[in-house]
Amino acid sequence: MQKKITRNRPEKYRKHNPILKGILICEHCGKNVTWQLQKGRMYGSCQRKLPECKAQSFIREDAVLELVQGKLGDLICPSPEVISWLTTLLRQDFELSVDNLEEAQKALDERIERIKRMDEVLYDDKLAGVISEERFRTKHESFTSEINDLLRQKGGISQTYKQKYMAGIAAIELSQDAKRLFTDENTSNDDKRIILTKLFAGISLKNNSVSVTYTKLTQAIARNSGLSKEILGYAK
Ligand SMILES: [Zn+2]
Repeated sequence: MQKKITRNRPEKYRKHNPILKGILICEHCGKNVTWQLQKGRMYGSCQRKLPECKAQSFIREDAVLELVQGKLGDLICPSPEVISWLTTLLRQDFELSVDNLEEAQKALDERIERIKRMDEVLYDDKLAGVISEERFRTKHESFTSEINDLLRQKGGISQTYKQKYMAGIAAIELSQDAKRLFTDENTSNDDKRIILTKLFAGISLKNNSVSVTYTKLTQAIARNSGLSKEILGYAK
């Protein structure tokens, strides 16, 4: 009896927090598929009034999850060498970006130096009485705010590159563990959704069929995992 109660609870919770909430999109209208619990099973459907939307029947959550799990399984590389090869590729790409980044930052540094020199001239002019105190203050403030702007830009560039790189490495690592995490009953539905959004570009419904699309990065991982399975003679 005790067991039955605890088993019922997660289902009630799931009713309001389905794994695929906000994840599965109807391609006809571009909106979210709505999920509801019927006789212990989750069903999704598009609630819009477009004829194509209404023509679709209910879709079973477990069928979509099975498809997703298969796609997650396809990401797992049988050999760790392939994964290290991928991270090396990504790192090389990052280093190329860093070269561009350094050039951009050098250009910003030069502009900052130029403004600082102009500000020094301005100060000398004030000391020599060439310009008024009032004019000095206005010009000096404008130089200072321009320098701060450029410094902010400089910080912004490096932040963006670094985030892109870190996200790539994290996605590669996640891809190898994602199926296990996704099928683990201790993983919350919120975390499962995070896994799906990090590894897939989209999951969509069209004419009653669901398609799961990898991101550029996971597409490459899946391709190479498949290739190395073939080479190593793994059964698919
Ligand atoms: Zn629709």
